This record gives sequence, structure tokens and C-alpha cells, in this order.
Amino acid sequence: MHACNYAPTKADSYDRFNSASRMRYPHLFAPLDLGHTTLPNRILMGSMHTGLEDKASDYHKLAGYFAERARGGVGLMVTGGIAPSIEGWLKPFGGRLSMPWHVARHRTLTTAVHAEGGRICMQILHAGRYGYHPLSVAPSKIKSPITPFTPRALSARGVERSIRDFVRCAQLAQEAGYDGVEVMGSEGYFINEFLAERSNKRSDAWGGDATRRMRLPLEIVRRTREAVGRDFIIIYRLSMLDLVDGGQDWNEIVTLAKGIEAAGASIINTGIGWHEARVPTIVTSVPRAGFAWVTRKLKGEVSIPLIATNRINMPDVAERVLAEGEADMVSMARPLLADPEWARKAQAGQSDRINTCIACNQACLDHVFQNRRASCMVNPRACHETEWPMTATATRKRIAVIGAGPAGMACASTLAERGHSVTLIDQAERIGGQFNYAKRSPGKEEFEETLRYFRNRLHDLGVGLQLGQTADAASLQASGYDEVVIATGITPRRVSFAGSDDPRVLSYLDVLAHDKPVGARVAIIGAGGIGFDVAEFLAEHAPSPTTDVQRWTREWGVNMQLDTRSGLQPAQPEAPARQIWLLQRSQGRPGARLNKTTGWVHRATLKAKRVAMLGDVSYERFDDRGLHISVKGESQILPVDSVVICAGQEPNRKLADALTAMGIKAHVIGGADVAAELDAKRAIAQGTQLATRL
Ligand code: FAD
Ligand code: NAP
Ligand code: SF4
Repeated sequence: MHACNYAPTKADSYDRFNSASRMRYPHLFAPLDLGHTTLPNRILMGSMHTGLEDKASDYHKLAGYFAERARGGVGLMVTGGIAPSIEGWLKPFGGRLSMPWHVARHRTLTTAVHAEGGRICMQILHAGRYGYHPLSVAPSKIKSPITPFTPRALSARGVERSIRDFVRCAQLAQEAGYDGVEVMGSEGYFINEFLAERSNKRSDAWGGDATRRMRLPLEIVRRTREAVGRDFIIIYRLSMLDLVDGGQDWNEIVTLAKGIEAAGASIINTGIGWHEARVPTIVTSVPRAGFAWVTRKLKGEVSIPLIATNRINMPDVAERVLAEGEADMVSMARPLLADPEWARKAQAGQSDRINTCIACNQACLDHVFQNRRASCMVNPRACHETEWPMTATATRKRIAVIGAGPAGMACASTLAERGHSVTLIDQAERIGGQFNYAKRSPGKEEFEETLRYFRNRLHDLGVGLQLGQTADAASLQASGYDEVVIATGITPRRVSFAGSDDPRVLSYLDVLAHDKPVGARVAIIGAGGIGFDVAEFLAEHAPSPTTDVQRWTREWGVNMQLDTRSGLQPAQPEAPARQIWLLQRSQGRPGARLNKTTGWVHRATLKAKRVAMLGDVSYERFDDRGLHISVKGESQILPVDSVVICAGQEPNRKLADALTAMGIKAHVIGGADVAAELDAKRAIAQGTQLATRL
């Protein structure tokens, strides 16, 4: 097998489009002069922990990951957080750069990136009280609500030592060949903890009034600049919106920004929200570029470039942020995990070929929080670049893939990319399978981008698409394919109780696919991912467009005037469209099994919509009085006029079983393989992996 180009179009063909794309995205592709160096465009790949930073033996994988993104044309990249000391670890034995012998592993990264013509800064991250270990330190001995360890309060000497650790770390980063460092001053980590009354109760020179609270970052940046000289980028990530009680006010933030510029920073990046904040900041329901207005407020206060962040995922969004003067650069972390070729595609005028980050967090942040290597739901190769090279097939086969849901689309496109002749068949008139229903949930409109990406990818790769055709075993046998892949998905689980055949008892497909009418009071049976999505769908009068920032900030209690401390104000959720009960049989809190980094947002959303969530429920019957249930053994009647069943799924193996009966061997993937706990991450990864083996 020989290597094949993973990108659909060769990089050199992009260059032919360069001048056209500069016309299309003139601000995004304008160079940025930093004095000693000029960045080729305004795209920063923001810091993102991948889990590969912690072991020296993983650095060659990290080098492959960054090299691929440097090749993809991003202007500047920032590594995941690297601690300047053991005290500053994010977790025990986490990535650290504090000793001369740590330098070599980092040089692996910088060499690989520079070989591709890229630039990379290392983020210095002192975790402070967010450190998940017993050695954590902080300005004061106050435990964070999201970690089990109470930090040790640093002495004044300890603070001085921490500053020296930052400076030493930056010097070692310079020795390792980095183009600069990013000093992490936001998200509620160490530096941010010094800045906020919430976590800084000191009365010495490092606490008390705002001037003393901001001394730490100013000293860190000033002394770092002295140590590294002029020709080294220092990005300071500044918390512009703490979103927690006892955070900074806007005047303090402006004063800090001015001080950071005077201390010698080259660029100020935006930080939004502490990790313990109860306002979502990056999940898919946050509007695109939903916090760029915060960076905008700082424009004119400093003269160094400002970077806007959070939910900027497509070139037109990035261009608008820059064109409207909200920032000088845009930071994207997850979008470059999803598509390493993001910048080149935008530059080539091929934005509709970008594999868009849909902000699901399922394979990136959720993995990191589970101590697993990050990857990407829509690009399972992310962070596995060196272990998962894409190779062309030595033997071109005729392959049929049945089912154009996420599993089938991923499999068919990867097979075609490897050089096979592929036919993709679906009984529906459109590709996408269940993603067509997922995208109807409020805040999941981004899922349409994945469908657009696959639609174009399948077309570009010449996959024979046969829609509106139900595949059967006999016709597949007659066609004589070399391989058959079954990706026929699932069928919704049916639930039986007295009255369950009443037309007012609906399945989630009746609601999301067939728009059947639903009454003003509704019970949802099953509180898994789909039960929550259906509840959100039914609670909303009209879904918020992904760009309606004002409506979103009002609902979540973010003060766009920034005249309250931390940018918080009382949330004003809109009244629900219906009265909803969300039910499950198992004990405990519905939604406890939802994804780690997004589940709390779904639970908070439904709470704001006054959805009643009940566990330990038995379903007895449905009649004109409503749904008769017992909760913890006690009977009650929910006075509902509709019931929607969201009780999980069963594999749809009819075709697979028919082929087996005929003695035809087929590969079964996605929901057709195992429906239990199936999500699109598993479906796409399984489809892609199978395609690399055939
Ligand atoms: P499917 O998507 O079910 O696709 C199967 C396809 O096969 C269908 O298009 C069907 O028409 C076709 N087919 C079946 N039989 C035949 C035949 N005989 N001939 C031709 N075609 C046939 N997952 C997540 O990871 N994150 C989420 O946020 C998320 N949200 C969701 C929200 C909702 C409302 C729903 C319904 C699902 C959600 N999911 C989510 C689940 C995710 O969509 C599924 O896990 C995924 O679609 C499964 O992929 P699949 O390709 O195996 O099957
Ligand atoms: P699910 O997550 O397995 O939830 C099924 C629900 O139905 C559970 O609440 C279950 O709880 C209940 N149930 C199961 N069998 C039942 C029965 N016989 N009678 C009554 N209730 C029953 O499945 P899903 O909601 O259908 O979602 C399908 C997949 O899509 C899941 O893997 C999910 O992760 C994925 N998805 C993900 C997201 C996301 O945001 N990440 C969103 C939507 C879907 P009890 O047994 O306690 O009643
Ligand atoms: Fe974006 Fe989801 Fe991929 Fe993370 S897993 S990079 S959020 S698409």
C-alpha cells in the first residue's frame, strides 16, 4: 500500500484559489505583523489539551498532530497547557516544562511544525486550585467546587517562586524552539484566582484591592519579557468575563489589559468563563461567535492585537468578527481538531468542504475529562495521525454500503478515498440517517454542517449514491459486489402498556421526522439523550437561531452591558411552549448519564423550562385522564394529552440477517451492529476504521 492524500484536494491546487479567497475573506487572510515576525493570516489554533502532552513517549504523536495542522495553513498554534512546576500540574504527572531534560521532547514538536512552515507557541498553564492532585496551591486555601482537593495557600515567598517558575518555563520553551508562549490567565486557573476576590482573600502585597490582585500577572509578563527578549511572542490569555460570583468587574479588566500590554505582551487572547461557571461557553447551543462582543469592548483600550474566541467555527463567521472590528485574530481549537485543512480550504474558497466542528464535545473535552486521549467525533483520526495513516488500496474493489447515516457515510467516503469503487444506498430520499432528526433539537442546528460536509465529500470522491432505494439481500447478491457493508441503523424501541396503541402515544420519530401534533401537556417516556433532545424541542416556541446572541445571553443571565461584576445578571428564560414531564424507570436523577461536559447544560435548560423530571417510574396505562404511573410505588396520574416514547433503540439487522441466511458475508457497523449506547461518535469511528481495513 502506498500513502494517499487524506485531503480531498491537493494543497497545491488550493494555491490557485488564493487570490480569489483573499477577496472572499480579506480580513481572515490578511497577514499580521508582530514586529519581529509576520503571521500569514489571522487564524490561531487555540490551546486544547489532547492527553498527549503528559508522556514523553507521546510527543512524536503530538508532533504528527501539530504538523498536519501546520500543513493545513493555520497562522499560529498553541499547545495544550504545560505546567511550569509540579505544584501547577493539572493532574499528577501531567505535562510539565521546568527542567532542562524536558526540553528535548518539546523540540520534537517545534521541529515538526517548523518543517511544515508553521509557528507554534507553548501554553504555560498553572492549574492553581483546579489541579487534580494533593499538591495544588492557590492564593488562598479555598477549594474549588469542581475538584476534591483543597489547595495550600501560597506564602509570599511561594508567590515569588511561582513567578520564577513561569519565567523559567518560558525560557525553556524558547530553548525548545517555540515561537512564543501563551500565559494562561483565564478560565479560573492560578492567575485568574489571584485576580478575583472570590478566590483571593490575601491581605499581603498579592491580595486586597484590585491593584494588588493584578500584580501577579503583571509581574509574570514583565519578567518573562525581560528573560526572553523582544523576538519571542507572548500571548496573554485574559479573562474578560469571569461569569462567577466574586469575579472581576470591567474596569479592572481594562486596567489589567493595559498593564499586560505595558508589561510586554505581544497579543491578548480572550478567556470566557471559569470552569466552575454555570453559563455554558462552548457547547453547541452557544451561538456562533457568541462572545466576540466581549473582545470588541476591549478594542481601542490597548494597541496590541486582540483575539476573539469561542464558537467561531466557519470562515464566514471568522471573517465577520474581523471585518466588524470585533478582534484582530480569531482563535479556534476544536474546529482545527475537526479539520486540519480548515485554513487551506477557506483560502481556496472551499469552505463548503470544511468538516465543521459541531461543538458536541463528545470526543474532545469529554475524553479529556475522562483522562482519555482527545479525538473528534466527525474526524476520528484526530490525535491519531501517526498511528492511523490513510493509505490507498492496492486492490480496487466494488463495495456496496447500505445505509447513509453517520456510519455509512463515514465508511463509504473513506473507502472511496482509498480508491475503491463505492455505491452508497439508502431507502430515504436524503443522506444522514438520524442526524436529520438530531439537527432539529434546539442548539443542534450545527449537525446540518456534518451532513453538508458528507454530501460534498461523497460527491467529490465519486461515490455512487442511490437514494430512495431499499436494499434487499437478493439484489445485493445479484449485483456481485466484492464487499457489502451494512449500516442500516436502528429501530426505535417500542414500549407496551395499556393504551400505548392510542394515536396520542407517539414515537420520537413521529415528532421529529413526521411533525405529528403534540398537545400542550406531554409526558416523555425515557430520559436518555433523545428524551432530553425531544424535551428541549417541545419546550421551545421557536428554536433560537445560532446567531441570536442577545436572546441567548438574556436566557442565560449574561450582562452584555458589562456593568455588573463578572458580567452576570439574573437569567430570564423564556416561558416553555408546553408543560412537560420527563420520565425514567431507573432510580436517581434523570440525565445523570448524559455526557460529562454537556449534560449539565441540558439539565439546566430543562430546569429553566420547568420540565418535571422523575425517576423510579413505572408506566401503567394511558387514557383520557392522562398517563397513569407510579413513582417509588405511589400511584399518580399525569394530566397529559400526549405521550412521546424515547425508550432507546434496537439494531435494525433485517438485511444483515437475510444476507447471512443466504451465506453472504457482510460487515455490520453502527446501530445495525450494536444499538445499545450507540452514538454518532462510535458510528463514525467504526465506519472509518472498517474502511481503512478493506
Ligand atoms: P442511522 O443514523 O440510523 O442510519 C441508518 C440509515 O440506514 C438510515 O438512513 C436508513 O434510512 C438506512 N436504511 C435502513 N435500512 C435500509 C435498507 N434496507 N436499505 C437502504 N437503506 C436502509 N448521537 C450523538 O453522538 N450525539 C448527539 O447529540 C445525538 N443526538 C441525537 C438526537 C436525536 C434526536 C437522534 C434521533 C439521534 C441522536 N444521536 C446523537 C444518535 C445518532 O444520530 C446515531 O447514533 C447515529 O445516527 C447512528 O448512525 P448509523 O449510521 O448507525 O444509523
Ligand atoms: P438511551 O440513552 O439508551 O436512553 C433510553 C431511555 O429509555 C433511558 O432513559 C431508559 O431509561 C429508557 N428505557 C429503556 N428501555 C425502556 C423500556 N423498555 N421502557 C421504558 N423506558 C425504557 O437512548 P436514546 O435516548 O434513544 O439515545 C440513543 C443514543 O443516541 C444514545 O446512545 C445517546 O447517547 C445518543 N444521543 C446522544 C445525545 C448527546 O447529546 N450526546 C443526544 C441524543 C442521543 P430507564 O431504563 O431508566 O427507563
Ligand atoms: Fe468539535 Fe465535537 Fe469534534 Fe470536539 S468532538 S472537535 S466538539 S466536532
